[in-house]
Amino acid sequence: MSHVIHRSLAKVPLVAVGGKGVQLFDKAGKAYIDASGGAAVSCLGHAQPDVMAAMHRQIDQLAYAHTSFFTTEVQEELADHLVAHAPAGMTDVYFVSGGSEAVEAALKMARQYFVEIGQPERTHFVARRQSYHGNTLGALAVGGNEWRRKQFAPILMDVGRVAPAYEYRDRRADESQQAYTARLLAEIDAKFQELGTDKVIAFVAEPVVGATLGAIAAPAGYWTGLRALCDRYGILLIADEVMCGMGRTGSLHAVEQEGISPDLMTIAKGLGGGYQPIGAVLAQGRIVEAMRKGSGLFQHGHTYIGHPMAAAAALAVQKVIQRDQLMPQVLARGAYLQKQLHARFDTNPHVGDIRGRGLFWGVELVQDKDSKAPFDAALKLHAQIKAQAMANGVLCYPMGGTIDGKHGDHILLAPPFIISESELDQVVERLGDAIDTVLARNGAT
Ligand code: PMP
Repeated sequence: MSHVIHRSLAKVPLVAVGGKGVQLFDKAGKAYIDASGGAAVSCLGHAQPDVMAAMHRQIDQLAYAHTSFFTTEVQEELADHLVAHAPAGMTDVYFVSGGSEAVEAALKMARQYFVEIGQPERTHFVARRQSYHGNTLGALAVGGNEWRRKQFAPILMDVGRVAPAYEYRDRRADESQQAYTARLLAEIDAKFQELGTDKVIAFVAEPVVGATLGAIAAPAGYWTGLRALCDRYGILLIADEVMCGMGRTGSLHAVEQEGISPDLMTIAKGLGGGYQPIGAVLAQGRIVEAMRKGSGLFQHGHTYIGHPMAAAAALAVQKVIQRDQLMPQVLARGAYLQKQLHARFDTNPHVGDIRGRGLFWGVELVQDKDSKAPFDAALKLHAQIKAQAMANGVLCYPMGGTIDGKHGDHILLAPPFIISESELDQVVERLGDAIDTVLARNGAT
């Protein structure tokens, strides 16, 4: 009997009692390779000694001080570190406790910026159908995951919606990648025009889509085109890097690989690596300057912002990433994982697409490779694969549900940056076995 309202109300999940390196252990003593880092969170794995030591030091010194009275050394040091490694022009950081809170803060900061500079008529956000930005009401409103939004849709703010950047399914057979990118950008331009280019606050998107479809980057030229489009109309560009950021794709920020700097950027998950709940908004200096000169405050706030324990954990995580030069390692291990995934799945008639960057990989299942027809949604293949993979001792993040009227089954891998090649071999072997088992069980071989 559990008194916790769990994610699934149908059954109580297994009890996790320990973790070390890339492994988690349940109460029955079974070990799992954490190949999704939870939900792309545990970038350094579990029980990382330097992070644990930093947290111990912080709790001995100061566990909490409300930010309306004080800042703390550790919060300031973390902000300095993040700004020193931020995309061009991002000079300020606002700390929160997670991804959804970061998105909420970014949306409000963007709106306040326009009020401060005398453009209060800007009231709309534009975002993509293939997206997830969090589960609080503002973040859910900008997100485009139908399954998550459905029952709340009537109480969500209206958001301008455009197509996802989903080349595998949406680029036409006779269309070049360049033409596809141009088509996507033209649709965004048209949406800005439709809403009024002086009425739009911001465009919100994930540089590499995570929780909705699994590790999908936009086609070449999309982000530079988007940046130019937003600049043309004075619309802000918000990059949601909650899942794909903080080193996950092999550069500290995913936008670095797109060669642009957003106006606001949300980070979380890998920022604290799961050691503490923490997220943040990185902001261009001119946005903060407008608030400073105007109201003199950001009209927002939560009780636990800038929490010293969370800041200490995040600072330690980020220092380990830097000290151990984990970015080149993410790229190298990511390339290895890519090779192993292709070796294992290319001949599988039901693996339609393998895509990703760094240590962020998605595998998409289809009934038929040529037509790309998905499996029957009622089978919930993604959930069956997750369960079978767990039985095989590997954790992967499943995604399903309807997007743009199409069902899909996707598996996301986001292992800790410290994972070894032999551990990646085990991940691919156990996941491969889980996929084979589930396909056979459902009559698809
Ligand atoms: N944005 C993105 C891109 C995410 O992937 C997520 C979480 N999966 C969120 C926001 C919400 O973060 P959280 O669950 O920490 O509130």
